[in-house]
Amino acid sequence: MIPLAVPNLSGNERKYLNECIDTTFVSSVGEFVDRLETDAASATGAAGAVATSAGTTALHAALVVLGVRPGDLVIVPTFTFIASTNAVRHAGADPWLFDVSPNSWCLDLEQVRNELEKNCRIRNGQCYHVATGRRVSAMMPVHTLGNTCDMDEARTICDEWGLALLADAACAIGATYRGKSLAELADLSAISLNGNKTITAGGGGLVVGMDRALLDEVHHLTTTARVWPDYDFDRVGFNYRLTNLQAAVAVAQLERLDQFIARKRKVRKSYDKAFRDLQGVSVFPIPSWCESSCWFSGVVLEDASRTPVFVRALNGAGVGAKAFWKPVHLQAPYSNCLNAESLAISTNLWNRVVTLPCSTGITDEEIAEVIDKVTSCLQQTMNGR
Ligand SMILES: *Cc1c(COP(=O)(O)O)cnc(C)c1O
Repeated sequence: MIPLAVPNLSGNERKYLNECIDTTFVSSVGEFVDRLETDAASATGAAGAVATSAGTTALHAALVVLGVRPGDLVIVPTFTFIASTNAVRHAGADPWLFDVSPNSWCLDLEQVRNELEKNCRIRNGQCYHVATGRRVSAMMPVHTLGNTCDMDEARTICDEWGLALLADAACAIGATYRGKSLAELADLSAISLNGNKTITAGGGGLVVGMDRALLDEVHHLTTTARVWPDYDFDRVGFNYRLTNLQAAVAVAQLERLDQFIARKRKVRKSYDKAFRDLQGVSVFPIPSWCESSCWFSGVVLEDASRTPVFVRALNGAGVGAKAFWKPVHLQAPYSNCLNAESLAISTNLWNRVVTLPCSTGITDEEIAEVIDKVTSCLQQTMNGR
């Protein structure tokens, strides 16, 4: 089986892990946590980075630091991994779900602008949703598949409506937008170091940004809000710290970020070239405003009813193909959320998306094999109708 996306651990991971064990620095203090924060800041063009226990906890801590309070609404695209909205709920707020643009699969900012104008008013510099009386305190665009959202427009809307801007950059390390670095694009951005992401720590996350005061607060809050050197705490903090063991893996991974991103982009290019003109499918979009990190690659079927058959056929042929994110508004915990007027793009997209093998360690031969099998399985699937 050619796997969908597996970690590439052939660098210094083992050596650095051994250093942790030899020095006994296996827990939440250590050289590699500090090194990861320095290296991640430099890789994303940030003023600083804070390592966290997961992408989800990075999002949660960032929401709290950006002033999202219980009862607030946070603007989120429905086509995302459920962790985005879980973080909003962890902060006591609720997501206000929007559709995505077909050419980026990111938050539809035209819809956001229209709905804000139709449904919200500014009072004392804060945005309120009139019908529910609830404050709208933040916008959380998701850089889907490593495509950045149109962040100049996101910034303009947030400035006009007094919203904090937090990017869910969980799968976007390596992406840039109009020549700007990832960390410049929002007040704070959250990155995931989960096992299926481009750079992994086994599990973990990062908060990056340009504002040191905000980052210091994220650091304080995610490390139990302790005021050193005694056992004094000035807030109800979180234990969201990454361990030195996990950071050791991530440091070794980051050393090869450029190489990993180049490989991800090569995979995307190969699939796009092979599948662009194939009957019955289209390829994943990349908007002109960004250099996508191409986290995952694959195809979009024309006919959703064929997706399960196609995935099964590929799996049977040894290709680790898989369905992709089911939108949040179709998930039980979020079925009663405030929704934008239409979520049609997301509703009609998700069950046609098939992701294909795209590990950074995939060989050219394996890419060619995936292309062959996709072509033949597609034929089978279409004929089986
Ligand atoms: C992976 C992912 C997350 C969650 O990150 P974890 O490290 O698994 O908590 C959140 N949002 C998006 C868009 C993701 O892809």
